[in-house]
Amino acid sequence: MIIGGINKLTLIDYPGELAAIVFTKGCNFRCHHCYNPLLVVPEYTGTHINKSHPQINSEGDFLGFLKTRLGKINAVVVSGGEPTIHKDLPIFIKKIKDLGLKVKLDTNGTNPIMLSSLIKNNLINYVAMDIKAPLNDYKKIINTEVDLIQIQKSIKILLDTSIDYEFRSTLLPKQHSLDDIHNMGMLINGAKLWYIQNFKSNTDLVNLSFNEERSFNEIELKEIVAVGTKYVQNCKLR
Ligand code: SF4
Repeated sequence: MIIGGINKLTLIDYPGELAAIVFTKGCNFRCHHCYNPLLVVPEYTGTHINKSHPQINSEGDFLGFLKTRLGKINAVVVSGGEPTIHKDLPIFIKKIKDLGLKVKLDTNGTNPIMLSSLIKNNLINYVAMDIKAPLNDYKKIINTEVDLIQIQKSIKILLDTSIDYEFRSTLLPKQHSLDDIHNMGMLINGAKLWYIQNFKSNTDLVNLSFNEERSFNEIELKEIVAVGTKYVQNCKLR
């Protein structure tokens, strides 16, 4: 596994659990608004270099670190980048599970075969899947080609699964209208949980020109959540 960084402790990224985060390197999307260019763009030379814990930069280092944290954390968030582009992800996760830790997977939904297999083999306890846009606008938002069938398959897997999951969407006025929120809601109609995340521009981004873009204000966010609530059981701001 290619590891791009870690966060030793998070109280918010895995609901209800004390977790460490491991960020795998590499992504098959290039979302303009992405605030993890270091993990996404191979030729990245910006200022957002992860200098935290430089001693933990291999799978062995990370697993060794986890062993020192047993009893203090009970879960690991496997995030990215896009973890499922790595063929050895299931083996990596199995090693984490063998330590007795729960695993949450963050994914953009492009690898439903791996997602389904991870669920069937009890390797993940929670999935957070990005919903980037209405299907028609996906390519524009993620800034590259995408097989929309795979996205739809991953959505169905989560709608049908018995493990915990959330859908989540990072939104900004330049890219998302209220009509878009309706269409995104229809895409995940009946889902248990949909988190709305407001765009933030105070960091390096994959598309630096987005640093000039505004975020939604409080009133707009309330309208978005009200629309989301029409389609899912629980729509919340994060
Ligand atoms: S936001 Fe997620 S899916 Fe998009 S480029 Fe960044 S890591 Fe990849």
